[in-house]
Amino acid sequence: MAQARREGRLPQVLLISGPTGVGKQRLALWLGQLALCERPADEPCGVCRSCHLVERLAHPDLHWFVPIPRPKAADNEKQAAEAAEALALVMAERREQPLYAPPDGMASHSLASVRLLQQQASLTAVEGGVRVFIIGDAERLIPQESSQEAANALLKLLEEPPAGALFVLTATDPRRLLSTIRSRAIPLRLGRLPDAEVRAFLSARVKPAPLGAALDERVTAAEGAIGPAVGAYGGDKARDAAAALIEAVTAGATVRLERALRQGAFAARGDFSAMLDALAETLGDAAREASGLPSRRPIPEALRRRRDAGALLAALDRVAEAREAAAGNVNPQLLLAVLGEELAEVL
Ligand SMILES: [Zn+2]
Repeated sequence: MAQARREGRLPQVLLISGPTGVGKQRLALWLGQLALCERPADEPCGVCRSCHLVERLAHPDLHWFVPIPRPKAADNEKQAAEAAEALALVMAERREQPLYAPPDGMASHSLASVRLLQQQASLTAVEGGVRVFIIGDAERLIPQESSQEAANALLKLLEEPPAGALFVLTATDPRRLLSTIRSRAIPLRLGRLPDAEVRAFLSARVKPAPLGAALDERVTAAEGAIGPAVGAYGGDKARDAAAALIEAVTAGATVRLERALRQGAFAARGDFSAMLDALAETLGDAAREASGLPSRRPIPEALRRRRDAGALLAALDRVAEAREAAAGNVNPQLLLAVLGEELAEVL
């Protein structure tokens, strides 16, 4: 990318994909810093005014969009203002805690965010140079909202990017992006890091540094991504909830119903989505093991007894459908009751 920038061949629209927590938005920021640097070489110089502003997430020509709760205001202008406020809040948090966790499961790029992006893209650069727009977790763009208005507005921007604008989209699963948007971007796939690199990062950057078996465990669980390794992810809670659901589903109808009706625990919709994600991961791991591949994490006892990869994949399909429905306005309790029945059928 540094070479492409030097030779003036850097695409205006990039899509960085790769595993959760592997550093996609981090790389986007690096590229933004390089594009805005006053003395760029193969790396951002790190000492010029622009570089410092990017590092403090305060550069007026660097716009970082992340999924946020859907604005509640009634009219468009107020919604855009609300989105700007929510984004500013996230950026303030990231200034304090640069090793941030993934966004809340229900957070999205709503039409308000896209309108804000349009507004900012229509202005000229404050510093007179390049403008950088990072759209993190781009698959969180809600296509069904306002009859695709948000997606179409973004599409229009990406089809004819304003001069001097650089758009970097990131996505864990680019297949969940609209194909029309995906086709406008030059793809860049990030792989998992070698364990040695994760280990070196943990030893050097995490205080207090984990040692011995604790270090080994974290390196293995991270699966080549720094994000999960630094432990900001709270994945354990969601995984425990997913395992409890699997136990309930395989234990019979009465337990199943009870379990679904006790979902006050998912008062926050984000927790619910995180549980669904963990459920999909767990089923995927079980399917791997049933196919004779090594599983990456311990599998709940109830799934261990099911050696039929086909059934596990069917279950995975049902969870994917529930995940889609959860992005809309469906009551989690109702969704879980239906999902419980469906899983009991296939498992
Ligand atoms: Zn610089």
